Amino acid sequence: ISMNDPIEERRICVCVRKRPLNKQELHKKECDVITVPSKCVLLVHEPKLKVDLTKYLETQAFRFDFSFDETASNEVVYRFTARPLVQTIFEGGKATCFAYGQTGSGKTHTMGGDFSGKTQNVSKGIYAFASRDVFVLQSQPRYRNQDLEVYVTFFEIYNGKVFDLLNKKAKLRVLEDGKQQVQVVGLQERQVSCADDVIRMIEMGSACRTSGQTFANSSSSRSHACFQIILRRRGKLHGKFSLVDLAGNERGADTSSADRQTRMEGAEINKSLLALKVECIRDLGQNKSHTPFRNKQKLDACLSSSLCFQIAMISPGMSSCEYTLNTLRYADRVKEL
Ligand code: ADP
Ligand code: MG
Repeated sequence: ISMNDPIEERRICVCVRKRPLNKQELHKKECDVITVPSKCVLLVHEPKLKVDLTKYLETQAFRFDFSFDETASNEVVYRFTARPLVQTIFEGGKATCFAYGQTGSGKTHTMGGDFSGKTQNVSKGIYAFASRDVFVLQSQPRYRNQDLEVYVTFFEIYNGKVFDLLNKKAKLRVLEDGKQQVQVVGLQERQVSCADDVIRMIEMGSACRTSGQTFANSSSSRSHACFQIILRRRGKLHGKFSLVDLAGNERGADTSSADRQTRMEGAEINKSLLALKVECIRDLGQNKSHTPFRNKQKLDACLSSSLCFQIAMISPGMSSCEYTLNTLRYADRVKEL
């Protein structure tokens, strides 16, 4: 895929990314149960027991638009997922890219940048790669004289509440306007004029978000983060790209959890997930009879230009197998939308 390829017919693309086994998993001699035999296929080798208690592996195959194995870099994942969507917003469309999966599977690493150093390297995440390409496209002859201004927002949704990561975590109100469009009141849109500006914003927002990102029980595992790149022409909205790092999806599935607070958060996350999905599908115009757009022209404009990419993140270890299958089955269903 290159940035100049025609926009695909399909509106939702689904891909999967397997992260490598980490140090602890290697130390525990955890088995890798995932193989990626070709660029679209992914196999899960699930450990099972026969009735006579002998162990065996049952292989299940999944097919996606792309499957990335542990050798794929963030940049490669970006190139095949979010990158083509940058053009969508220059053409006046809306684009969304979700990272979905179990806590610890690599959502924040992929979207926000890797943690291999002491601090998060935000210049190597999809947020930063997309921002760079926005400025590359803006300077191309085709868009150079279009007076497009670039803005970014960065917010977190936790327990149904919205916090502005570019404004000291200010708590914001969410309203539905008359057109059933959800609006976050008072969200700071910061104007940016180069990729370095954006990287500073991402750093600021990520630092605001953290509190032990990699611990399963930290609030970041139960919150969604949304980074948006907005194009305006003389103040008027032209295009919008939402890049979403979703909360860990394990809690909704985890019914054994005795802790009420955790269960409620699980339910809350599932509700938000559903809302995001509904919003995405509505934008994609699949649900025409309930369209929020009264104006037919506007609807057509939206239909011709909305795109969505979902990246399912999975951990390779045998102990995560159940969660991994849960993520893959969910991704499989999204594919059919
Ligand atoms: P999540 O946001 O899904 O909870 P993280 O992105 O925080 O997970 O990843 C958990 C840990 O695994 C982090 O230390 C991260 O650096 C590491 N990690 C995730 N994906 C990769 C990858 N593709 N390559 C190397 N390390 C990874
Ligand atoms: Mg995370």
